[in-house]
Amino acid sequence: MNYDYIIIGAGSAGCVLANRLTENSQNNVALFEAGKPSNIWKVKMPLAILYTMHDPKYNWKYYSEPEPHLHNRRLFCPRGKMIGGCSAHNGMVFVRGNPNDYQRWASFGLTDWSYEKVLPYFKKIETWSEGENEFRGGSGPLPVNQSKIKILYLKHLSTQQEKLVTKLIQI
Ligand SMILES: Cc1cc2nc3c(=O)[nH]c(=O)nc-3n(C[C@H](O)[C@H](O)[C@H](O)COP(=O)(O)OP(=O)(O)OC[C@H]3O[C@@H](n4cnc5c(N)ncnc54)[C@H](O)[C@@H]3O)c2cc1C
Repeated sequence: MNYDYIIIGAGSAGCVLANRLTENSQNNVALFEAGKPSNIWKVKMPLAILYTMHDPKYNWKYYSEPEPHLHNRRLFCPRGKMIGGCSAHNGMVFVRGNPNDYQRWASFGLTDWSYEKVLPYFKKIETWSEGENEFRGGSGPLPVNQSKIKILYLKHLSTQQEKLVTKLIQI
């Protein structure tokens, strides 16, 4: 069989790439994954992440080299081994990188990785439950919801401080 594109690894990037390429029905795409299908309760159930993270069937279970500054301990470095890759670990969280990290990379010369350059892509990914704004997207394929848990420490802040924290959560 002939393919126009062969993608190795059906992780976060591989799945998105396959999805985008097959939007054009003329493209014949092969997507290879070393791990298993992720259509299992351990992935569907929020916070069952601890099961998949420690199961060699669903995780590569890498360890770092001994760290000299940590008494030569080897640190656990979990990496997903299934359709969806690392993002199939279901922690029910959606965390973006810190804007300052992107700015730091830009200052090293990676100007295409500045926060201004990556922000439109973050926005494009998501449909934010509170509606589109300067930082959040309103029509992307991934629904992202504001946590319904009331943050207890907000009760101890002044209105101004609360506004600032709310703004920081948005970013
Ligand atoms: C527990 C955990 C929690 C995380 N939480 C967050 C978060 O909240 N926010 C955030 O932004 N990021 C988070 N990350 C990081 C994020 O999930 C990863 O950065 C992202 O998924 C990496 O995507 P990727 O496509 O580069 O690689 P992966 O998703 O790792 O995909 C690589 C895929 O390739 C497969 N593969 C490897 N070798 C081969 C081979 N030879 N042949 C075929 N297939 C192969 C693997 O099995 C895997 O499925 C988290 C990661 C982990 C592990």
